[in-house]
Amino acid sequence: MNISDSEIVASIMKDAYLTQTTDMKEADVIFMNTCSIREHAEQRVRKRLSELRSLKKKKPGLLVGVLGCMAERLKDQLLLEEKVVDIIAGPDSYRDLPKLLDIAGEGQKAINVILSADETYADINPVRTGSNCLSAFISIMRGCENFCAYCVVPYTRGKERSRVPETILNEAKNLFKNGYREITLLGQNVNSYKWKSDNAEMDFPDLMKSIASIDSRLRVRFATSHPKDLSDKLLMTIAELPNICRSIHLPVQSGSTKILKLMNRKYSRESYMERIEAIRKYIPECSISTDIICGFSSETDEDHNDTLSLMEWAKFDYAFMFKYSERPDTLAAKKYKDNVAEEIKSQRLNDIIALQQKLSLESNKSDIGKTFEVLIEGESHKSKDFLSGRNSQNKVIIFPRKNFKAGDYVDVKVLRCTPATLIGEDV
Ligand code: SF4
Repeated sequence: MNISDSEIVASIMKDAYLTQTTDMKEADVIFMNTCSIREHAEQRVRKRLSELRSLKKKKPGLLVGVLGCMAERLKDQLLLEEKVVDIIAGPDSYRDLPKLLDIAGEGQKAINVILSADETYADINPVRTGSNCLSAFISIMRGCENFCAYCVVPYTRGKERSRVPETILNEAKNLFKNGYREITLLGQNVNSYKWKSDNAEMDFPDLMKSIASIDSRLRVRFATSHPKDLSDKLLMTIAELPNICRSIHLPVQSGSTKILKLMNRKYSRESYMERIEAIRKYIPECSISTDIICGFSSETDEDHNDTLSLMEWAKFDYAFMFKYSERPDTLAAKKYKDNVAEEIKSQRLNDIIALQQKLSLESNKSDIGKTFEVLIEGESHKSKDFLSGRNSQNKVIIFPRKNFKAGDYVDVKVLRCTPATLIGEDV
């Protein structure tokens, strides 16, 4: 989401006649687009800001801006704590950046952290900064109103709002015309996308269908889904269209119904399992990945074992795994104690990581002998003689280069694997 937002900021800056540089020393303005989801993310921003102090001493006119969730969360407190910062801009105030730059250019601190009920940056054509010219993100909705107890996002990114479908479709069509072959539809809660006007409406499955119908050579992915919004209609739409990728990221967070309730996740262990069964029924070849938080308030050994047994049962192909990190002002910070000892959190995280490594290896081993259509992304990091790409299941496959090039689709038979990579040859 932050990469996508940075591309929107780059576009707004381009319209204000600022050009980008990859050399920090050359820059007159440095923006840091920040995340508040974990304390660790914020600590890294603080460290980067302290590194900018010496740069600013050498170049007094340099302007430093903090954008995104950390700006929204800390507001003017950040200006007091970090003297190097000149501009604070929350996620809904990027259109205001040229004005904030003018104010800061005159030597004043500039801040806009007003959250909007309808800003989606729908009309802004993002500058594809971090792109490989094959894959791009399209932000289709912003904000979240789920208020999971541990999460800061509803406070930093505001109310949920969906972008006008025509603007999404036009962006996808332009990307395809310009050679892009894979788009990822983005939103904090992407599958609750719903757009309504006086005489029309569109939900997420219908939007996916329209985008996938642009061209069968355009792959469509999406992130991140909430289990409560993963409808049968969506699964049937994915099953119907081969270019919607067979890969669903479905954060579970915990395998214990008691903890899920405390987390305010709005589903139980059983209803999550029912959704996994639905995925397997409609799209048997689909890979499933997840997010897991261990050590949430009052998590017992039994709750932890519930998470491990759910992982074994679901056979996740991949997982992002974290220790619980209490975030200020969230429901959990106000209502619950962060009462699982740090060493227990670490031990539980180790258990979860070890189990996931085993599951990922088993999943990759089960692909040996299968043939997948791979979209080539470029050279393998390990050898110039090999190319690297992804299959529909979002697994990385490397294979001999021959005469193929980035952007080609090639059928690759898997011959062997590591826990993270499939290795094969074209057939
Ligand atoms: S669904 Fe929950 S975890 Fe995801 S952004 Fe919304 S509040 Fe945060």
